[in-house]
Amino acid sequence: MNLIFLGAPGAGKGTQSEKVCEKYKILPISTGSMLREAMKNNTPSGIKAKSYMESGDLVPDELVIGILKDRIARPDAENGFILDGFPRNVSQAEALLKIGVNIDAVINISVPDEEIIDRLVGRRMCEKCGASFHTIYRPLKIEGKCNICGGKVIQRDDDEPETVLKRLKTYHEKTQPLIDFYEQLGKLKIVIGQKEISQTTSLIFEAIEEMA
Ligand code: AMP
Repeated sequence: MNLIFLGAPGAGKGTQSEKVCEKYKILPISTGSMLREAMKNNTPSGIKAKSYMESGDLVPDELVIGILKDRIARPDAENGFILDGFPRNVSQAEALLKIGVNIDAVINISVPDEEIIDRLVGRRMCEKCGASFHTIYRPLKIEGKCNICGGKVIQRDDDEPETVLKRLKTYHEKTQPLIDFYEQLGKLKIVIGQKEISQTTSLIFEAIEEMA
């Protein structure tokens, strides 16, 4: 089963993708996480992506499409995957069609802008395993330490308030048109993001069962 999770930054794509991947034994693929890793390791892709990511812009298509193509070709993606954060615009979606990957369903997690801002500004992330937390909605059990792996928990640079507004603008301009794109392909399911993470997870499971 191959899925795409759409939604604004902070809508819960990463958190929900963890849950769904666990249930269906498929692989979570986050282009944002791969790019952050590349930046941390100063690889050529990471160096190219840095300024775009820091300012809340999209990284150039050819760079991110290359990374994605390599990742889905690896054997651990054979059983299926969830794309979280890809595609981010219509030309990336067209590139995915061209690669010939079959997508079973596209889940759009819908959350109003005001709530997105609140979620992103309070969001914290584990440097080691990438798990996402929130100062109020998904708090840490021990200050600064990941509840899952014990790694160091930080605030992402691009979750600073000014960059959050830029990322939201980029989302509305470039990524939101994908909702119509996948609707026209008959693949789209809309899930309204709930306050409780587990309630959203249940709605996503229902949506997947309906598409299967
Ligand atoms: P994310 O972790 O998905 O919020 O992504 C963080 C940042 O990585 C974004 O603000 C973009 O700068 C970059 N990025 C991630 N995925 C893509 C993509 N598919 N296309 C272009 N840029 C991306």
